[in-house]
Amino acid sequence: MDLDLAPQHATFRTAVRELAQGVARPHAADVDREHRFPEEAIDAARAAGLLGVLIPREYGGAGLDAIAFAVCIEELAQACASTSVIVDVHTSVGSEPILLFGNEEQKRRWLPELASGELLGAFALTEPASGSDAASLKTTARRNGEGYVLNGTKVFITNIGRAGLYVVFARTGPDEKAAGVSAFLVPGDAPGVRVGQVFKKMGLNGSPTGELVLEDVVVPAANRLGLEGQGFTVAMRALDSGRIGISGQALGIAQAAVDESRSVLAERESAQGDEFMLADMATRLESARLLAYHAAWLCTQGRPFTRQASMAKLHCTDTAMDLALDAVQLAGEEGVVAGSPFERHVRDAKALQIYEGSNQVQRIVIARELLRGSSIPL
Ligand SMILES: Cc1cc2nc3c(=O)[nH]c(=O)nc-3n(C[C@H](O)[C@H](O)[C@H](O)COP(=O)(O)OP(=O)(O)OC[C@H]3O[C@@H](n4cnc5c(N)ncnc54)[C@H](O)[C@@H]3O)c2cc1C
Repeated sequence: MDLDLAPQHATFRTAVRELAQGVARPHAADVDREHRFPEEAIDAARAAGLLGVLIPREYGGAGLDAIAFAVCIEELAQACASTSVIVDVHTSVGSEPILLFGNEEQKRRWLPELASGELLGAFALTEPASGSDAASLKTTARRNGEGYVLNGTKVFITNIGRAGLYVVFARTGPDEKAAGVSAFLVPGDAPGVRVGQVFKKMGLNGSPTGELVLEDVVVPAANRLGLEGQGFTVAMRALDSGRIGISGQALGIAQAAVDESRSVLAERESAQGDEFMLADMATRLESARLLAYHAAWLCTQGRPFTRQASMAKLHCTDTAMDLALDAVQLAGEEGVVAGSPFERHVRDAKALQIYEGSNQVQRIVIARELLRGSSIPL
């Protein structure tokens, strides 16, 4: 049993940390304050090949695995949570569906530009009346000769306006639930695609989130990802590995909260109660990290990992939220000052408990897997 990172992952972590701490972290506060896209960090990530982590070398990517992906997102999030969510969504749910479900032509058409970061990817599932109950989505894709015509509105789409490619889920069949959903690759500049409202959020302010409006958008049949009616499977599989990324994000925020708390206690005469709090924070962080990396490892082994990814997402994001609040408590008045990293971590951590399946939904997934008979390996 070896719980150390393999040498290549450890080397990769060092390289991403250097970039994250050197380029992303110095801008994290102003990116948050000004609600601006973290251009410097994304440019640096693009130049370092971090936007193609999961894409095989033959399509221009780095050809790394889910462990490297978790490492990458964790390191970025520790420095700047906004940067991490942009890279995370692009890498996992915004690009990986093509890798997993695309045909050779689709892979050759889209993956090189996604890997180089020339195109940013996005994932458009959520609608005004369908969030947790994603299978009830209303966007339509009507067959029209050799292609489809898409109509509908997606909400809370990460990388809105910045993405050159959206993986869009729309209803192609009369079935009102999952079986009627198909997935499409929709270029951001296709006629009829426009950005609606862009939401001002409490955190992750550098990551644009908003409405994707589709008005009579014509896409060729070649842009359908997978079979007609397979869209819901595409979405659920993408979210499984997406949850490894969200776990990484949560670990990064939690690690930053622990590190800043250590600095606070090192600089003042701390009471034993404070030190116990720090010890509990570090213990929770370590347990969360083990869950996340176990899920990532299962994924790299090609073994089932749905339940472990949901457990990791649930535990890591709850841990990040709690540790961010603990860090404010330990910092005292300094922690509540607007613009301090302490209060920023609290605001950034909250959305992680909601997106890519809320933590209630993770409990539904975990319970369903357990009741289906998938036992916990010892
Ligand atoms: C910052 C941010 C970025 C996002 N980015 C994307 C993106 O890129 N692409 C995308 O498609 N979506 C994105 N989303 C949307 C996100 O995935 C949804 O917010 C999420 O799925 C929850 O849906 P909802 O907000 O509609 O909540 P609802 O489904 O309306 O749920 C409201 C509350 O009820 C709970 N609840 C719902 N059903 C149940 C149930 N059966 N049992 C118990 N509790 C339940 C939920 O857990 C939640 O607490 C993003 C959201 C945020 C906040």
